[in-house]
Amino acid sequence: MTNNSILRLAIQRKGRLSEDSLNLIKESGIKFSSGTGKLKSKSRNFPIEFLFLRDDDIPDYVADGVADLGIVGENVALEKGKNIDIVKKLGFSKCRLSLAIPKEAEYLGLQYFQEASIATSYPKILQDFLDKNGIFADIHEISGSVEIAPSIGLASGVCDIVSSGSTLLSNGLKEVETILNSEAIIIGNQQMSDEKKSILDKLLFRIESVQKGKNNKYILLNAPTEKLDEIIELLPGMRSPTVLPLADKKWNSIHSVINEDEFWEVIEKLRNAGAEGILVVPIEKMIL
Ligand code: ATP
Ligand code: MG
Repeated sequence: MTNNSILRLAIQRKGRLSEDSLNLIKESGIKFSSGTGKLKSKSRNFPIEFLFLRDDDIPDYVADGVADLGIVGENVALEKGKNIDIVKKLGFSKCRLSLAIPKEAEYLGLQYFQEASIATSYPKILQDFLDKNGIFADIHEISGSVEIAPSIGLASGVCDIVSSGSTLLSNGLKEVETILNSEAIIIGNQQMSDEKKSILDKLLFRIESVQKGKNNKYILLNAPTEKLDEIIELLPGMRSPTVLPLADKKWNSIHSVINEDEFWEVIEKLRNAGAEGILVVPIEKMIL
């Protein structure tokens, strides 16, 4: 029996998910020591314990209840994950799982892979994709350095993780199909106790306020009084913008919050409407 009043979160020990996972926890105000080589660490100010593991092992540990939660790529969750819940998408470690073939080969469509051999570390996701598309291929499972398979005559194509595509290119390959778009996610055990679920709710609340903060900017600007209404129209604000008079009656200071996605567009409209002295400040946490 694991202790019910503490959550166990499995994080990748060393790799592409580690740093962003640890940062997310730290930004959520959860303090713990993560010295190198440590396999376990308990927070000093939140009922959570961390297990540092290889990412491939995390889905099984979560399914078995050795850990209640884990942070992994969707690619790993789909490939290895059985009996786990997807709790939350985290928006970092974005990459895709793609099919690639030798650069010089002609590609006219998925039929290229009919009866072909494909090297991959993701046999399950690949098999599902091929089945859905009516392609019969020989899947060659290898655990690493998949991209060299065609050049050593092991396979005529590969199915592997891509982010910029430079690894494929330097191995003489070109990307031809995307099978899955992936990002880091929190996965969870399906039989968590109510006590653990309520700690999870608190954790998610913190993570969401950090994420909202990152997706928004605090903006301060000066607006001429005669343009005030027009400028306020352009600013959503959390309820509505704050307007403060300046000592000079012809000017006002306006404070508001803008979403990252519409940021540059709004700034341009504000300038055109006569706003001056625009300051943009990052938001650490945002609670609505
Ligand atoms: P481990 O030793 O823990 O098994 P690994 O070598 O399997 O690590 P990493 O290369 O650290 O795994 O990648 C971890 C996850 O990060 C991948 O499963 C994927 O979701 C994501 N990822 C992989 N490559 C990239 C990339 N180039 N950019 C962004 N995210 C990536
Ligand atoms: Mg791994």
